[in-house]
Amino acid sequence: MLLRYFKRCGAQTLLCLCVFFAYSKPSESTDVLQAVGKPFVVVIDPGHNPKQPGALGARGIHEVTYNDALSKKLATALQVIGVQVLLTRAATEEISLDGRAELANTQQADLFLALHHDSAQLKYLNKIEVNGALAYETKQPISGYSIFVSKLNPKFSQSYRFAKLLGQEIHALGRLPTLHHAEPIAGENRELLDTNLGIYKFDELLVLRKTIVPAVLLEVGVIVDPVDEKYVADNAKQDAIVQAIVAAVDAFQH
Ligand SMILES: [Zn+2]
Repeated sequence: MLLRYFKRCGAQTLLCLCVFFAYSKPSESTDVLQAVGKPFVVVIDPGHNPKQPGALGARGIHEVTYNDALSKKLATALQVIGVQVLLTRAATEEISLDGRAELANTQQADLFLALHHDSAQLKYLNKIEVNGALAYETKQPISGYSIFVSKLNPKFSQSYRFAKLLGQEIHALGRLPTLHHAEPIAGENRELLDTNLGIYKFDELLVLRKTIVPAVLLEVGVIVDPVDEKYVADNAKQDAIVQAIVAAVDAFQH
């Protein structure tokens, strides 16, 4: 959930948790010594953390669980195409918003991608009970993905270029963007830069404005919507989303 993520900013220690190197050594048989190109570095930022787990979904599962599962799959899939991947935190660990951006900056990442799962304003939600615990679900369908970029990021044009590639790939899965963040009400009112691709401007998002590398935040789906929650919780659908992100990263790096 974007708004909680925006508001909560602790002062915690920067942790670089997972570094994977995946690039080829040059052939030793060549007479001409070839310089090894710098690997393309992607920082994946699983939104929220165990203590501040984000939105509560329609099946009583917090957002952080969805974020962590997809981040893990994405890290593996990106390594397959030779991308060097860093995760801002492991599933059990905490990191501040500043720390997330700082990791991308100090590692001189080529791309920072925050992964989140979405909610909606309380007035659009019914309280429900799941296994004896409180949860929320939408009164009317609110579903789809959304993508955020910040014009305060010094690499805005590159961020927007990746956002468009990402939107095109997810759109090609048959998935439509949710436009509820553009509603002119308190807590939303975000400017749509591309309605068809679901790309919003959200300048103040800390992890986007404090990164000095291309940075994008993806809300994968709306977990308070029972239909959309089922989509993003489905293993095969997660794999399809991951492959869409990988295709966008691959196009972006070339
Ligand atoms: Zn979130």
